[in-house]
Amino acid sequence: MQYLSTRDKSLRLSAAEAITMGLSRDGGLFTPVAFPNLGTLDLKTLCGMDYQRRAAYIMGKYLEQFRPEDLEQFSRNAYGPETFDHPGVAPLRKVDGNTWCLELWHGPTSAFKDLALQMLPQLLSYSLKKTGEEKTACILVATSGDTGKAAMEGFANVPQTKILVFYPENGVSEIQKLQMVTQEGDNVGVCAVKGNFDDAQNAVKRIFSDEVLRKDLEEKGYFLSSANSINWGRILPQIVYYISAYCDLLNTGEFKLGQKVNFCVPTGNFGNILACYYARKMGLPVGKLICASNCNDVLTDFIRTGIYDRNRPFHTTISPSMDILISSNLERLLFDLSEWDDGLVRDCMQQLNETGRYEINGEMKTRLQSLFYGGFCGERETETAITEVYRQYGYLVDTHTAVAARVLTDYRRETGDDTPAIFASTASPFKFCDSVLNAIGRTPEADSLDRIAQLQEISGVTAPVRLAALRGKEVRFKEVTEKAGMENIVRAFLQ
Ligand SMILES: *Cc1c(COP(=O)(O)O)cnc(C)c1O
Repeated sequence: MQYLSTRDKSLRLSAAEAITMGLSRDGGLFTPVAFPNLGTLDLKTLCGMDYQRRAAYIMGKYLEQFRPEDLEQFSRNAYGPETFDHPGVAPLRKVDGNTWCLELWHGPTSAFKDLALQMLPQLLSYSLKKTGEEKTACILVATSGDTGKAAMEGFANVPQTKILVFYPENGVSEIQKLQMVTQEGDNVGVCAVKGNFDDAQNAVKRIFSDEVLRKDLEEKGYFLSSANSINWGRILPQIVYYISAYCDLLNTGEFKLGQKVNFCVPTGNFGNILACYYARKMGLPVGKLICASNCNDVLTDFIRTGIYDRNRPFHTTISPSMDILISSNLERLLFDLSEWDDGLVRDCMQQLNETGRYEINGEMKTRLQSLFYGGFCGERETETAITEVYRQYGYLVDTHTAVAARVLTDYRRETGDDTPAIFASTASPFKFCDSVLNAIGRTPEADSLDRIAQLQEISGVTAPVRLAALRGKEVRFKEVTEKAGMENIVRAFLQ
């Protein structure tokens, strides 16, 4: 399979090159030239496999350059019992008669990012070998909270890589921050940024396109790469769990092959829901893609009006990993909806850069709306959703998952479409103890780690071992920088 750039479709790269580079030099995102079809036979075969083998099988369709036995090994490393605390890796949990929840937080950092970031370092290491790259990859990450930790957990002590994470100083939960600043490993660095996630992400993108810096780093034996969801090596492992969830439904015996299912995904950078869209393109019987936002509702408006407009206040919410006004992966959807019009994509992205706004044409809008539904909910509704799911089903969800649960309910009420649906559960509630405790009417303990024990006691659910183990860990990283200082932090890190 070859890969092109959303801003230059004449480009052709191998998977190994696309994964190594992360982002195209023209600023575009790498996208496969075709989406392999999943036939009935494939789905039946996949139903008989465990998660590890499903992952190797599906990824193999995009990575012919990689040996199947190597992919199987990567999959065992990524999704084995040392990293995931559930044998199903990404298990489905039935919530009511026609609603399921896809639990994506059984990995080492208790967020769905682990599914991709336990795999990406292995794909990258292999790609470095394949492409004969001898320089060290320096992974720069801007994080809204979960990516940073999951990326470091994946890349810690991986040879020929270093990883530097920037997070918004006041834009992540206390547990998320603790997870990051206590990260172990000789090749990792963490720095807080004065600003919000978009500021950090924009600065990282600028650093990527800085030719002077690129040359300087090259001389020192480094090149920059990305573990953000713009990297194809992150989107690909995410396609797997949508297909796997469908197989699990089939295996319950309550569901017929070919029967449609809707997915509702709590969305920020548009990576997770894009993977679901790609699974649908491969032939997975997906009905509606329901895109759930918090009060940073730029995507809801886009899906409803065809106008993307980031000129609006940025809200810091209790679902911080969705506090994003520039959803990078939307570019891949635009490319697809426009039937590969790279000129159109370039124009849109230029307008977004210059005016913060662009509008798609009528045809694209029709396609967009036939595929997607956009909805959002505010802080109060998020809290209510946590309480309601807890009261009705005895099931504790985190703040991000609550947004999805709520928007799914809104969707069903508004459209009357009660197709069986799966909502993605993207983080463990124990990562956001504070907000979850408040939502269920309890006063959180003063200390953020005490709250983990508190929530555990109240809910009767055991907290993920690694979160509980944060107590007493040494804080290794205390640096804070202005946006303008980020480049210097990169230079210092790579001395
Ligand atoms: C990253 C994240 C999201 C948003 O996912 P995108 O792929 O950026 O749309 C939602 N929930 C949680 C818990 C996250 O960490």
